[in-house]
Amino acid sequence: MEKPTICRYCGSPVVYTSNAEIYGREYGEGKCYLCRNCRAFVGVHPGTDIPLGTLANEELRRYRKTAHFYFDQIWMQPLRITTRYKAYDWLSKQLGISKEYTHIGMFEKEECVKTIELSQARIEKYKKRKEQRNETF
Ligand SMILES: [Zn+2]
Repeated sequence: MEKPTICRYCGSPVVYTSNAEIYGREYGEGKCYLCRNCRAFVGVHPGTDIPLGTLANEELRRYRKTAHFYFDQIWMQPLRITTRYKAYDWLSKQLGISKEYTHIGMFEKEECVKTIELSQARIEKYKKRKEQRNETF
């Protein structure tokens, strides 16, 4: 993942800084890439200065958060419909993008919306099937 130097929203310089500039106090890994002009930012992978994805404004951060909320249910407890690896494989095929780019931190709004819809549909289908199975016993 490339380190952002110029804000893709407003063209201002991006700084590598403490995320206390965003949250008021240092939170989690403590670092981020931030545009001080329009406040777009992205966090980093634990213990590194490698960005989690591309710089995101408030709207995109909201979409990415929601996409993670639904998609993560597919591979996380308590549902854990499949493994994390297979879940990303499935998502990449559904979206028609290579696995290398199947990271929600790299998604734009459009891919987030698709991820949310696809994940919700898969969760619903799984829950329904589970109910039907339970009825037969
Ligand atoms: Zn900016």
